[in-house]
Amino acid sequence: MEVGYMKGKTGLRAFSMLLAVMLVSVVLVPVVSASASNSGGEQMSNRSVSEKALVHFGDLTEMRIVDERAVNVKIPFSIKNYDLVVFDLPKIREYLLHGDQLTVYLEGQPYTMDLQETTIDTEAIAKGIHSFTGSLAGVEDSQVLLTVGNKVLLGRIVIDYTEYFIESTSMQDSKSSSAFLQYVYSSKDIVPEGDTIPIDSHLLSTHAIDEKAYALKKMLEEQADPRATVTVRVLVATDSKWMTDEPDWQDTAAAIIQYCNYDFNTLGVNIVPIYDTSKAQQLSSDPQIINSSLSTFKKYFPESYLNSKSADLGLYLGGYDSIEFEGVGSSGGYDFPSLCRYAWAQMADDPSTYDAVLKDRAVVTMHELGHAFDAAHEYAPNQTETYNRAYQFYEHNRYYQTVMWGCFMKTAWLQFSATDGFYGDANHDNSRRITETKGVVASYC
Ligand SMILES: [Zn+2]
Repeated sequence: MEVGYMKGKTGLRAFSMLLAVMLVSVVLVPVVSASASNSGGEQMSNRSVSEKALVHFGDLTEMRIVDERAVNVKIPFSIKNYDLVVFDLPKIREYLLHGDQLTVYLEGQPYTMDLQETTIDTEAIAKGIHSFTGSLAGVEDSQVLLTVGNKVLLGRIVIDYTEYFIESTSMQDSKSSSAFLQYVYSSKDIVPEGDTIPIDSHLLSTHAIDEKAYALKKMLEEQADPRATVTVRVLVATDSKWMTDEPDWQDTAAAIIQYCNYDFNTLGVNIVPIYDTSKAQQLSSDPQIINSSLSTFKKYFPESYLNSKSADLGLYLGGYDSIEFEGVGSSGGYDFPSLCRYAWAQMADDPSTYDAVLKDRAVVTMHELGHAFDAAHEYAPNQTETYNRAYQFYEHNRYYQTVMWGCFMKTAWLQFSATDGFYGDANHDNSRRITETKGVVASYC
């Protein structure tokens, strides 16, 4: 049954890819003939090398027009337009680490970034990966998240709900010895492809599973101070597949954790990652990793192991297109004693609308961590906390969903619902639930 199902999914993907290729070739014909010197290949980039990239840092950015099919394979088909770039990373690192002002150009407009280094992820910093958070000077509703490693710069810049992304192809640039080939695009360039799917099958959000454990947690919740700041140490593991597919996986993992912390921090939760690759080979060698990712992860990282690393939670960033629940993530959930400390998020591309890009990965990771704090979907019939719901809001003629929304959406927002009248209301307030449970989660180890 499973094999047949997989075939069906692959067939659908192949068909939609074929369709996309046909559409792209039809659209591209006039462009190619207009610039005869260019022999094509950069199917989805409509700029020439003399033009500037959609997102760039002036002289610290070089455009690339690469006639390589291998590059296109690394960039999801849902991104209809992008620019390939290479950054002068040593200089950009110097600017950022010295606290010097760096100008970013978005669609040709220069902006000064007000940035501060976030120092929560000390393990990443020890590896030379630094993360910065801030805004664009003088621009309301702007947000900047940058992660700079030794070979790659990752980022998300938001102006008034338009998102600009700086991503990696995880491929070496052929013209320079150290830099990775990167691509930039905006949320306006995305046309979702594939079926909409539930992120996970979160049926376990019932308090009836273990009455004793529930009563004990409820008591601890009542004793905890919702205004206190807690540290939740999360063991972040991955497999050999992701490490091989993306040599810069560590930079991506650090960026994902940074994106999660951006909202968790406002709720008094510091997610402190403990990266662990010691069992990457074992995870990859286990045939069960593809169809039961979460429990296989737990098999190699039992509670005793988490305890030995002083980790409250275990998070598996999986390099496989898993078929567990046909979703792209999973977690035991707060009330399920045997798995409440475990979460898994898929890093690989999926036949659904989920793509192997930083934003999608961060949405699913934050969603699964949210479940560990008992945050529930928009529809969670077994929850006793009637306020614990995801929310959908309308802005600039489209709907956006807070991060606990049950289905994976390209318009998902990296934010928990909150009673602020914008991201939620008194009946849609995942944030409240997280502040109630954070003391319990922080005390797992
Ligand atoms: Zn869920």
